[in-house]
Amino acid sequence: WIFSKKLKLPRNSCLILKNFNESEDGENSCGFVGLVGKPNVGKSTLLNYLLGQKLSITSRKPQTTRRNLLGVDTRGSKQAIYVDTPGLHKTSGKALNKYMVKDATSAVKDVDILCFLTDCRSVIEDEEWILSLMSRPRVKRLAIISKIDLLRDKQLLLPKIKNLRETKLFSDIFPVSALRKNGLSELRSKIFELLPVGTHLFPDDQITDKSERFLASEIVREKIMRQLGDEIPHCSAVIIEGFSREKKVIRIRAQIVVERDGQKRVVIGKSGDRLKKIGTEARKDLENLLNHQVMLHLWVKVKRGWTNNSLEMGQLGYD
Ligand code: GDP
Ligand code: MG
Repeated sequence: WIFSKKLKLPRNSCLILKNFNESEDGENSCGFVGLVGKPNVGKSTLLNYLLGQKLSITSRKPQTTRRNLLGVDTRGSKQAIYVDTPGLHKTSGKALNKYMVKDATSAVKDVDILCFLTDCRSVIEDEEWILSLMSRPRVKRLAIISKIDLLRDKQLLLPKIKNLRETKLFSDIFPVSALRKNGLSELRSKIFELLPVGTHLFPDDQITDKSERFLASEIVREKIMRQLGDEIPHCSAVIIEGFSREKKVIRIRAQIVVERDGQKRVVIGKSGDRLKKIGTEARKDLENLLNHQVMLHLWVKVKRGWTNNSLEMGQLGYD
């Protein structure tokens, strides 16, 4: 598991943590908070900024996030468990696309608070089908208008706010910019206020449900998506074949799976330049995340048509 660097407590400190955790009236609160919306509206970026730690990968391309990821934020007696989703979009026939939308839809059903993210420049008509999924009883709903740093004239937000109000779905509407850190503390306070009473489901220093191996594979995938423009649209997966923690260094061996020989050539680049750059960028992020020196070895393999083959997808971890 990945633990935050902030709290470094001895292993037998559970009791201390528990006492530290109780609020004055002794009541803890804890709940799941779903981040939903179309791909590319800034869900993963928002999660990273709310947590103050890069956990979920982001890129300019839609559908960067492929499966739900939990990000846990515990402050005193309150624990918010954010569910970052792959984003809701109308599915094309491919098995991988269907898998992603299924994961995102399940998050809408199972959470205590739903945060609907919408890009400040988008029109509500395109998102009505997502809003229709959200009218579930007993769930608290917030609307988040993202990327407001991109609007020079903030007056332009007014029609969007009006449209969102008219849906009568949301108790509050928050215009935010994750990149400029605008509106985030107000949003976080509201989320914490709405959490239901309940015991914490994760230890207070744990920040995700995912293993270090999973996060390592995601970081490599992010670098591929960011560096390869549209040349590798959706066809890569990363398998961690080796992950060994030694005294001074963590050794990671990762296989990049693509669909075609041409894509393999693109990922490797001229005299291996591209692969080297992907490796360097990924290693820097991994060292930050794992707080340890990292040796990363990457290689590329072709598996034809894996994004449309459920069996192959299972073998690559999308089961
Ligand atoms: P997701 O698909 O909804 O998870 O979106 P991402 O978090 O991957 O973000 C998609 C793109 O929007 C990335 O290129 C981000 O850098 C960009 N982005 C996210 N938040 C902001 C923001 O507050 N302002 C601006 N200008 N760009 C943002
Ligand atoms: Mg995402």
